[in-house]
Amino acid sequence: MMMRLPFRTARPMTITRVDGDSSTTHFVSTDVVNWVLLEQDGELTLIDGGYPGQAAQVVESIERIGRKPEDVRGALLTHAHVDHLGGLVKLQAKYGFDVYMDPVEVDHALRHHLQQANALDLAPQVANPRLWAWLAKTTPLGVLSRAGLARASGFSTDGHRPLDLPGAPVPVASPGHTDGHSAYLVADGRALVSGDALVSGHEISSITGPQCIPSLFQHDEPTARRSVQRFTELDADILLPGHGPIHHGGVAAAARAALSR
Ligand SMILES: [Zn+2]
Repeated sequence: MMMRLPFRTARPMTITRVDGDSSTTHFVSTDVVNWVLLEQDGELTLIDGGYPGQAAQVVESIERIGRKPEDVRGALLTHAHVDHLGGLVKLQAKYGFDVYMDPVEVDHALRHHLQQANALDLAPQVANPRLWAWLAKTTPLGVLSRAGLARASGFSTDGHRPLDLPGAPVPVASPGHTDGHSAYLVADGRALVSGDALVSGHEISSITGPQCIPSLFQHDEPTARRSVQRFTELDADILLPGHGPIHHGGVAAAARAALSR
């Protein structure tokens, strides 16, 4: 079945490459959210997929690194918020790949329930002009979409073993932002794809640098902070967050900085 993807936009996008021993990690950063491509032997793992309105931009990022969407062997999800899930819903429908995640997140990704900020959660921020700028930018991208995946698969969570996907990502359970949030160690442990558990900026945040995402977006903030505390035990050098730029200088230090704010 043919499916039309939204027209291409001139939305800014930067792709940063992190080399591992046997795979290459491509960090794709846009002005609203980020995603990651793991490349190994001509095959790809896509981690997160942007807003519904960014599906075509995900394809563009794949083409920019010299591959095609059919090269995606499987996708991973950090968590099932619309800005990470939406593009995957469209791309899975078109290309048929499986999407894996922490087993706890599966029902969320299928939209059997929703752990996402609603209008009441946003209310305390009405005086923040950044909130309105963010809503103006993300509404056309589908921030209000309630669409879930047609199929979602939980990966095995026993041990910290690499998954059988290109780039051999290793899940790092990091609940709190959502109940089944997972980060992923990539590039042979050199980098952490942290999703929204630990970010380096956010469109509605006035601070830059490593930080926990604004409270209104956290499903369970105390649990989320405990997950960031566990990141202080990681050896990875590079943070590849769900929002904000790539951050060098150690994930453990970034986690400590975020907790001290
Ligand atoms: Zn989120």
